[in-house]
Amino acid sequence: MHILITNDDGVRSPGLLALKQALEPLGDVSVVAPDRNWSAGGHSRTLFSPLRANPTRLADGTPAFECDGTPADCVALAVKGLLPTPPDLVVSGINLGANLGHDVLYSGTVAAAMEALILGVPGIAVSLVHGYKPNTSFEAARMWASRIVAQAIQQQLPADVLLNINIPPGPPEAITAAQVVRLGERIYPGELVVRHDPRGRPYYWIGGEEPTGKLADGTDLGTIAASQVAITPLHFDLTSMYWIERLQSVRWQD
Ligand code: MN
Repeated sequence: MHILITNDDGVRSPGLLALKQALEPLGDVSVVAPDRNWSAGGHSRTLFSPLRANPTRLADGTPAFECDGTPADCVALAVKGLLPTPPDLVVSGINLGANLGHDVLYSGTVAAAMEALILGVPGIAVSLVHGYKPNTSFEAARMWASRIVAQAIQQQLPADVLLNINIPPGPPEAITAAQVVRLGERIYPGELVVRHDPRGRPYYWIGGEEPTGKLADGTDLGTIAASQVAITPLHFDLTSMYWIERLQSVRWQD
């Protein structure tokens, strides 16, 4: 089992190192990650400039590539020949922050796993719901990431579904279970802040406050609120089957 590890927080994120340590016992691990933070960068690919992937090392000495492209670029590079052998599985994370509900559309962490699916490789995204605290403990996240990825390998997770995993904050003993649940609904409260630079010109800041959400049972947001791990299977087809039927009865031409 050859596992590619990547993220959207950048190659120096402690979450990337934690994920590598969590998955090392499960197979041969390769690391290709962006050289900067792409959080909320969504699913973007680089078309109009070359990409560089330079050898580097993680804090524990693990060899890695740092790439000047996006998280999805990292996965595409790795699968298409940067690595001597292509990965059997791509795991993205451990993201420093939640990817719940609507977040998955903004998330570079989820985009990296989705890029794997596009290229025919199973993908898993792992996020730690922690706010923005320094000295975050990855102990629980490492344990659950290792357990869930091992189970996904055993269940032969196919390349047409990705697992979006969110792990609540807290020590391992505080997190008693994992639930398989659907996406919930995020609420982004941020208002537009207008300030002025030293030359008197306006600049803008959208939001900044932590998003909240509807804490419904059976959703990722409700599960995290109950201090349990949320596992949500995602696929890329955003088609509304309801509206296909409704709109097919409309007469579109004379
Ligand atoms: Mn991130």
